[in-house]
Amino acid sequence: MKGLTTSNVGPFPPHSARPANRYGNAVITKSTPSFRACHLRRERLFMSHQVLIGKRERGGYEIGQAHLNQEREKRVVFLTARVHPGESPASFICQGVIDFLVSQHPIAQVLRDHVIFKIVPMLNPDGVYLGNYRCSLMGFDLNRHWQDPSPWAHPTLHAVKQLIVQMNQDPKVSLEFYIDVHAHSTMMNGFMYGNVFEEEERGQRQAVFPRLLCQNAPDFSLSSTSFNRDVVKAGTGRRFLGGLLDDTSYCYTLEVSFYSYLAAGSTSPVPYTEDGCIL
Ligand SMILES: [Zn+2]
Repeated sequence: MKGLTTSNVGPFPPHSARPANRYGNAVITKSTPSFRACHLRRERLFMSHQVLIGKRERGGYEIGQAHLNQEREKRVVFLTARVHPGESPASFICQGVIDFLVSQHPIAQVLRDHVIFKIVPMLNPDGVYLGNYRCSLMGFDLNRHWQDPSPWAHPTLHAVKQLIVQMNQDPKVSLEFYIDVHAHSTMMNGFMYGNVFEEEERGQRQAVFPRLLCQNAPDFSLSSTSFNRDVVKAGTGRRFLGGLLDDTSYCYTLEVSFYSYLAAGSTSPVPYTEDGCIL
């Protein structure tokens, strides 16, 4: 998403569970102690089944100044990725976001001062570890179980949902965005799925963010973006949280092609490669 926050994505180097962890360690160790004290915190959120076997924990990052400004209302952007383990381009998006947010870019500095970013880069680590395309270790598509996740059968999803529900009940937290990052195996470009609401005005506000993305990212397609309330998608994070959170929150699925994008006015697809990565 050139010009916004993330790198373009290279489709094939799979961000497996172990390199993702190494990347996480590198983010922590590369940052200075004073930066970490002010802006960056690694959080242990859950133990997945594989993790129970291997005695490893997983979680996410908090980027911002939450712990420095206890009295100020916390404006939160919550980002998740890799609920579908085979969608490795989602990890490149997520890595680009993290790299940007911990950078010295002036926009990143402003964002860190005003917004808390909660990022869970790998929502289905068991599936990634096992090389599954879509399911968890137990064979569940976790992105159909947001309504009632089980701590036993869907531990990672259960933990993340609990955290979001707690934040939503905290009067000092304003959960403004939830974005779940996926990759699409047949479509080109980046695009979004959003929710449909009874209130027309709320629907119009939901459409603003994809429009801004389209204006700022040459590979983002507004024409491929759609808003729906299909019954089959009721258990997705975007649909469930769109119903749970109040009308000041915006919930989206962000999809990026596995392969390539068409820039506006062009007929030549541009492949997503590591050479095209913009950091
Ligand atoms: Zn997906």
